[in-house]
Amino acid sequence: MTGPVDRNAACSVKWCDETGTHTVHRKYLASVKGGLRDGGLVGVNLAQRVQPRASVCVEVTVTTPWASTADYLFAAASVPEITSALTEAAERATELGGTVRNQRD
Ligand SMILES: [Zn+2]
Repeated sequence: MTGPVDRNAACSVKWCDETGTHTVHRKYLASVKGGLRDGGLVGVNLAQRVQPRASVCVEVTVTTPWASTADYLFAAASVPEITSALTEAAERATELGGTVRNQRD
């Protein structure tokens, strides 16, 4: 153990769930089955790049069985606007005959 970083060492940032070496501090908040036929997982995290004066952002990750994880950092201030846009889009999609869960069960 001569390296400066212990692989299992807890991060010094109190809310961070990551251990060992990482480039983004991250707290895992939610994981939602978001895709068609429950084919994907949408994760919502708090995230902050490990660099001076980085702001804490809202990170959304999308994991599917057929592709590697995609992730995106949103500025916290923009999230309410994105949320209302998503909500409105979902309402419209439902009105137009959106996916009914377990339609064929
Ligand atoms: Zn951390």
